[in-house]
Amino acid sequence: MSELLLQVRDLKVHFRGRRQGMFGEHSTVHAVDGVSFDVKRGTTFGLVGESGSGKTTTALAVMRLVEATGGTIALGDDEVLSMQGEALRKLRRRMQIIFQDPYSSLNPRVRAGAIVREPLDLLEVGEPGDRDRREAELFRLVGLRPEQRALFPHQFSGGQRQRIGIARALATQPDLVVCDEPVSALDVAIQAQILNLLRRLQAEFGLTYLFISHDLGVVQHMCDEIAVMYLGQIVELADRVSLFRTPLHPYSWALLSAVPSADPAIARGKKRVRLQGDPPSPIDPPKGCRFAGRCPFAEPRCSESDPVLREIRPGHRVACHLVGEDGSAPHLTAPQAAE
Ligand code: SF4
Repeated sequence: MSELLLQVRDLKVHFRGRRQGMFGEHSTVHAVDGVSFDVKRGTTFGLVGESGSGKTTTALAVMRLVEATGGTIALGDDEVLSMQGEALRKLRRRMQIIFQDPYSSLNPRVRAGAIVREPLDLLEVGEPGDRDRREAELFRLVGLRPEQRALFPHQFSGGQRQRIGIARALATQPDLVVCDEPVSALDVAIQAQILNLLRRLQAEFGLTYLFISHDLGVVQHMCDEIAVMYLGQIVELADRVSLFRTPLHPYSWALLSAVPSADPAIARGKKRVRLQGDPPSPIDPPKGCRFAGRCPFAEPRCSESDPVLREIRPGHRVACHLVGEDGSAPHLTAPQAAE
């Protein structure tokens, strides 16, 4: 069995935008624009970034829930984007998703047991009798009682509803579980319980998570490797320790400056970086670094050519013209840009 579960190469998701003028051409929305990353089995890979960075669209394209415009995606030895018919149906068993909002992602008119069982029936997993046993087992696994299967979603708390969502995602024993902001709609006290449940299930069943979040505190708690996305592209990719200790891209540096550090030495030297303005539109983005309009270190060359994602240290890659091969970065030499 390969150590790599998922390989994404040069993934693009472009949507047709509005027509420019009555007889003009349609614009193109570059939601995801040349994204590449690997996810190892049994690990958690994080996609982080602001709203509109393309992280959710990337995950939905991996699951074939939105159409990719280009690139390749391999799940184990299978090429995902070329699958059709029965092969695609079987693929659905191998990839499941936990949605952000446990309030709206569960059908209020369907009993909790039927919600968890639905993917087993739809994808015809096992015999009907086995599915009953599996349904009860899944309730126990996520910390619910089997007799609660008869209840409707409104009879559960927010945390319990997310447990139902997790049970549903695990029903088909998927290879890959996409966790799309799985705790952002929950109270802080409940968030920790759900994150700990996800970690326990991962340890018990060797699950692989593609974890999407804008909350870097949550990402630091959950992820082994992290890709920072900005306007449809990965600007930095590293293991957790490397990224949180030494973010090399000015955008990652700004994002991480808002995360409290448990290390007093790091916390003392840390200043909050406030980025000016909003990300530009993903409609026909200009050439050069897409962060240039907000970057405190931008130089003329930044808007002239696209920075390439380069490996600076083993496993640590960054796309910035001003990061040196020795790991020098503009914010490390001129941190006065922070408040
Ligand atoms: Fe800033 Fe230039 Fe680096 Fe882009 S390439 S992040 S604009 S320094």
